[in-house]
Formats: sequence, structure tokens, C-alpha cells
Amino acid sequence: MNSATDFKTAIAEAENIIVIPHVNPDGDTISSALALTLIIEKYFKKNVTLAFIGKIPDVYGYLPNINKFINVNDIGKNQVFDVAIAVDVASKDRMNGAAVFFDKAKINVNIDHHRTNNNYGKINIVSPKDCSAGQVIFDIMEELELPLTEEIAICLYTSILTDTGGFKYENTSIKTLETAAKLVAQGVNPCELYRACYESKPQKMVQFQAFAITNAHFLKDGKIAYTLITNENMKQFDALDEYTEGISEALRQIKTVEVSMVLKETNDNYTKVSLRSKNVDVSKVASNFNGGGHRFAAGCTIKKPVDVALNKLLEYLTEEIK
Ligand code: 5GP
Ligand code: MN
Repeated sequence: MNSATDFKTAIAEAENIIVIPHVNPDGDTISSALALTLIIEKYFKKNVTLAFIGKIPDVYGYLPNINKFINVNDIGKNQVFDVAIAVDVASKDRMNGAAVFFDKAKINVNIDHHRTNNNYGKINIVSPKDCSAGQVIFDIMEELELPLTEEIAICLYTSILTDTGGFKYENTSIKTLETAAKLVAQGVNPCELYRACYESKPQKMVQFQAFAITNAHFLKDGKIAYTLITNENMKQFDALDEYTEGISEALRQIKTVEVSMVLKETNDNYTKVSLRSKNVDVSKVASNFNGGGHRFAAGCTIKKPVDVALNKLLEYLTEEIK
């Protein structure tokens, strides 16, 4: 584990820097990457290339500097950065096309909070007890005595808000709420950001989610809930990938449910799995299928069609859930 000072030294000595969030970006990785970019530009006066892999969900359009993100495919493959920073990236394979920039950088930095993170960077600031990557960045700022700005506070609050499911998940601690209070003191409006994140969905997204929930299956006296989403379903609803966000949590709302899963067919006919649980350690389940994540929220991509992937998962889970 490295310190904030190692991070500071690396940035201070760099000319050009790339910030890399994870594929299928969520609120934490996007807003943490933005906060980091704002910090490096404001306090270190360095040039930052801010890459994205996949698609940025429309809902995050309100974040400051969101238009600074460029598609990783638009960065020349021969470009070498002095420093590459991965943020909220549980494992290196979650960088897809950006891994080349991470590997070739003179110094690479891994800022994260996933318990399955294996410290793949040269500099590793990984804190599994923290609720979000944004919290890790907040701590770096405090340690380096870098003052918050309203823009940075909006990003860090969004990171914490989204990764705690609106201050609801088990990762919400005294520290989380104290950090949130400090961010509110910088001008963040909690209601405004809640509405931007959770009450700004397109109509067809909510209707698509209702369809997925209606089609859910239940096993083991309702302890396991799962729903399958095919490419055909996606077409039928004209759905974007981001529309699946929140379905697994919705199934977990059911009292009997211990583990919920969303199995989504990918364009190459593999299966992207989103796992949520109340007690079972689903990061272990996901790791067993080359994925990872947190104890009660994890994911993986199984290189099999949906029906085969489902059987493999159920076989494994039947051992876990008696
Ligand atoms: P989600 O279900 O929202 O996609 O992901 C839940 C959690 O598991 C997130 O913290 C995410 O970073 C992690 N996760 C999701 N998919 C993968 C994966 O394929 N590999 C790893 N290592 N982590 C994943
Ligand atoms: Mn996160």
C-alpha cells in the first residue's frame, strides 16, 4: 500500500497523465475520474487525458467537465504517458482497450476500494474498507491538504451517493456520512444530486426494468432471484446497456431474497452477470468466474451463452445457499 505522498511525487514529476475508469462505467468510477482530473489540473497544473471505455450513462451528464472524457479508441495507440491512473478498477482486465496505456506508462497508479483488487499497479492506494473510490480520493486530498472546490465536491459526493446506493448499503459508515457532510459544506445540494442520479430516468428505462423484474424467476423458497435479459429484449425496448443498472438491487428488495442476479446477453453472446446479496459473499462467486467486486455487490462476464452461464452459477450457488 502506497501513500498519498507517493501519488503526489508521481504527478509532480509527470508531463502527461491519463486517467482510466473501468469499462461499463458507473457513477463512482466516472465521478472519481473527474474529481482526480480536476485535482491534477488545478493543483498540479498538469495535462490530463481522461479516457472512457464503453459508454458514459446519460444520467451523469450533469457532472462538471463531463465533456472532457474521450473515447479510449480515439487515443493514438503509440502514445506513452508518464503516469496512468486507474480509478475504481477492480482488476486490470476491466480496462479493456486502455490497458495498453496503463502498461506502457512510466508509472502506473491503482486507486480503488474493491476487496478483490490485487494491487496490480506500481503505486497502489487501495482501501477496501472505504465506501467508494471517491472516498479514497477525498482522503488523499486531506492528507495532501488540497482544498475542496464546489466542482470537486459535486464529483466526490456523486461517487459516494451512487456506490452506497444513496447512503443505504452496508458500506455506509460514520466516516461516509462525515465526508458527505464536509462535501455539503462545500456547496453540494443533496436533494439536487439525488434527483439527478435517481429521478432523471428515461420512461423506457423504467418500463424496461419493470419488464425484467416481472420476468424474474425464484428458486430455493425465494432465496435466489434471477432475471435473464437477451439481446432481443434489448432491441424490443430500444434499451441502452445502462438500463440494466438497478435491476439486481430491485430484486434484492424482496424479503426472501438472499442473492439476486441479472444475466445479460452481450453482443458477442457471452453473459454479463450482476450479483447482489444480503449475506452471501458474492465477490467470491464472481471471482470463481473471473470477476470480482464487493461482498454484497459483484459481477463477472462468463464466456458462455446465457442458459449455460445460468446453470453454472446455480450449480455454484446451490452449494452456498442451503
Ligand atoms: P455491477 O453489477 O454494478 O456491474 O458491479 C457490481 C460490482 O462488481 C462493482 O463494484 C464492479 O466494479 C464489480 N464488477 C462488476 N463486474 C466485474 C467484473 O467483470 N470483474 C470484476 N473484477 N469486478 C466486477
Ligand atoms: Mn466503486
